[in-house]
Amino acid sequence: MHDRPTLGETLERQGVSRRGFLKFCVTTASLLALPPTAATAIAEALGQARRPSVIWLSFQECTGCTESLTRSFAPTLENLILETISLDYHHTLQAAAGEAAERAREEAMHANEGQYLVVVDGSLPGPGANPGYSTIAGISNLQMLEETLAGAAAVVAVGSCAAFGGLPMADPNPTGAVPVSKVVRDKPVINVSGCPPLPMVITGVLAHYLTFGRLPELDEYGRPLAFFGQSIHDRCYRRPFYDKGLFAETFDDEGAKKGWCLYRLGCKGPMAYNACATMKWNGGTSWPIESGHPCLGCSEPDFWDAGGFYRALSVPTGDIATTAAVGGLLGAAAGGAAVVKTRRAKADAISAHRPITAEELEQQL
Ligand code: SF4
Ligand code: SF4
Repeated sequence: MHDRPTLGETLERQGVSRRGFLKFCVTTASLLALPPTAATAIAEALGQARRPSVIWLSFQECTGCTESLTRSFAPTLENLILETISLDYHHTLQAAAGEAAERAREEAMHANEGQYLVVVDGSLPGPGANPGYSTIAGISNLQMLEETLAGAAAVVAVGSCAAFGGLPMADPNPTGAVPVSKVVRDKPVINVSGCPPLPMVITGVLAHYLTFGRLPELDEYGRPLAFFGQSIHDRCYRRPFYDKGLFAETFDDEGAKKGWCLYRLGCKGPMAYNACATMKWNGGTSWPIESGHPCLGCSEPDFWDAGGFYRALSVPTGDIATTAAVGGLLGAAAGGAAVVKTRRAKADAISAHRPITAEELEQQL
């Protein structure tokens, strides 16, 4: 591992400017709701970091999570972070196949004993299920995960299938699918949920690990608090319409044209915790609610079995007091006091930190 170049050397070789790198560090600190001093720590740690080995295992999934990570626009935080890791094994992206691919996994495990990260997308047939439901290279998903985890530092469960079971676990769950956290007992697991997850959330977690050598603070579902500490509803630009009781009733009525709240069209924003409203998708272009579609709550446990996509969870009357109460009840359903607590923690963290600019950071280093 020590013959790998540092991230600073890699970026320099690729012509990434110092100013560009510092801007990236400032953005990362701000995304993670860390204080300005953290931007300095990130810059110093990442500059010296040697690219850690990452082994990416894909089990019962649709490849959407990998698509999310790779369909980003350059130059972005995602691209920069992908430079910082050595993706030594990835079922979908690797050129090698068959025995050569499996050898790459074994070599990466051997060469980076105790230090590599395992990323999993997809759920896996549980311990009691027929292992033949999902195999790779002739071994079951469970066996491959256990084997690979033996020398790993931590596991990142990427996407709602790996984090919460997702579509494979939806009723009647024919393969007995379980999320990663159900079978991993002796390693830290971080859940980066979403169907798919935001690429910046995946890479933000990796940046945090590279900088501080540990995983970020998590919420009660094992998700990084920095990205899942506030609900979609908390940050939604249609919120003033919700508070006034102005709702679109169909996708093409006057309310929809005026940008009113999509709650009655099935929006799960009040109980969905994710960073879509602030980070947006496709390089910050837009996000589902800005495109006129309700949030489906894809980042939450039991996403597929939680009721109809286009049915309101409960119908507000249009009166502010009542709608506020409905929002409160939904918040309670999503985790109650703990959710409120995690949300406050993020808000406190943000308000306590004065932002730092790349120029200021440059002066400090
Ligand atoms: S219900 Fe949905 S569309 Fe309406 S304010 Fe909340 S998140 Fe936005
Ligand atoms: S807006 Fe809602 S459904 Fe859409 S990606 Fe974000 S959390 Fe998932």
